[in-house]
Amino acid sequence: MREIYARRISSLPPYLFAELDERKKKAEKRGGDIIDLGIGDPDLPTPSHIVEAACHAAKDPSNHRYPSYEGLLSFREAVAAWYNHRKHVTLDAEDEVLTLIGSKEGIAHSAFAFLDPGDIALVPEPAYPVYNNAVVLANSIPHSVPLTEENEFKPDLEGIDKEVARKAKIMFLNYPNNPTAATVEKSFFEGVVDFALDNDVIILHDNPYSELTFDGYASPSFLAVDGAKEVGIEFNSLSKAYNMTGWRIGFAVGNPEILKGLRMVKTNVDSGTFQTVQVAGIAALAGPQDCIKRNVEIYRERRDILVEGLRSAGIEVKKPKATFYLWAKVPQVRDFASSPSIQFSLFLLERAGLVVTPGIGFGEHGEGFIRLALCVTVERIKEAGERIKGLNL
Ligand SMILES: *Cc1c(COP(=O)(O)O)cnc(C)c1O
Repeated sequence: MREIYARRISSLPPYLFAELDERKKKAEKRGGDIIDLGIGDPDLPTPSHIVEAACHAAKDPSNHRYPSYEGLLSFREAVAAWYNHRKHVTLDAEDEVLTLIGSKEGIAHSAFAFLDPGDIALVPEPAYPVYNNAVVLANSIPHSVPLTEENEFKPDLEGIDKEVARKAKIMFLNYPNNPTAATVEKSFFEGVVDFALDNDVIILHDNPYSELTFDGYASPSFLAVDGAKEVGIEFNSLSKAYNMTGWRIGFAVGNPEILKGLRMVKTNVDSGTFQTVQVAGIAALAGPQDCIKRNVEIYRERRDILVEGLRSAGIEVKKPKATFYLWAKVPQVRDFASSPSIQFSLFLLERAGLVVTPGIGFGEHGEGFIRLALCVTVERIKEAGERIKGLNL
C-alpha cells in the first residue's frame, strides 16, 4: 500500500511522552495512587463571574452565528485596555489586536503565514513543542537556539551563526518560560529588538504566563520595548491567568502587517472564536482582577512546598519567579546515565507514583532536567514532597 501520510506528518518528532503515558495508565490500573505533576493545565475553576457572562451570552441568538475573522471589536478593545493597564503598551484595537482560538492556534498558524518551504525559523530549545512542530508542518527548517543553564535559559543571540541569523525569517521566544520557568528583564528584549533589526527577523513572543509572577516580579511585555512593534508580535492567552484552558481563547498583539499575515491564514482555515467565549473573555479582561491575585497566591504556596520537598531530597531546583512549573535537575546519585531525564521520570513514577515530564521531551537541551507542574491541590503537593523525601535518593 502506498504511504497514506504526508511527509510533513512523518517528519514530526516522535511523541516522547507516549511511553510515560502508557506507564502511567499501567500504574493506575495496578491501583497506584498517582499524583500527576506532568500536565500544565490549571486545576482551579474559571472564576464564576466569567462563567456567568458566558451563560448569559450563550442565550443571545446573535452569538450563535459565525463570528468575524478578527474577533469582536469589543473583545479587542478589552485586550487593548488590559495591555495598556497591565503592560503599559498602547495598542490600536482595530488593527493591532487579533483574536485567536487559544494562543496555540495562532502560534501554529504563524508558520504558514511567514515561512516558505526551506525557510529557517529560530526555535529556542528546550521549548513548548508547538514552535518546532509548526515549522516542520510548514516544510520549513527549525534552527535550534539552545537555552542553557549557564546563560539562565536565555538565548545567546551573539552565538547564533551569522549566516543562519541573516537567513532566518522568524524567531520564537517565550518569557516567562515554559518549561524552564526562566524570566527576563526589559533589557533582554532590547537586545532582541536590535537582533531583529540587524537580521530582518520577525519576532514572535509567546507570553501566556505574563500574569503568573511571584515575589514582586512583574514580567515585561516584549512590546513594552522601543522598536518592538516594528519587528514583532506577542501572543497571550486567557488560559493560564484566568483558568480558561478549555475555552480556547487567546490573542496576538503588535505589528499590524505581521498580524495581517496571520489573519490571512486564519481566514482560510478557521472561522473565528465563538462569540460567547469572546464575551466571557471580555468579562475576564475587564472584570475584577483579584482572581489572578488568588491564583498567584495558590501557585506560590504550592511552589514553596514542592521546592522545599525537592531540596530536602537533595534535588537541585531554582525557586522560579513566574509560571506554574519547577525545572529541577536530575540527581546524580543513581545510574540514570543513558537517558537521565526519561529514566528519572520513570523511576519517580514507579517508586513514588509521581508523573513528571522528562526535560528531553522539550528538546535535546532539556536533557538532565525534569519539569513539575503545580496544578494539583496543596495536599497533593505536600504528599508528592513527602514521597520524594521518602525515596532516600
Ligand atoms: C499553555 C501554553 C500555550 C497555549 O495556550 P493556549 O492559549 O491555551 O493555546 C502557549 N504557549 C505556552 C508556552 C504554553 O505553555
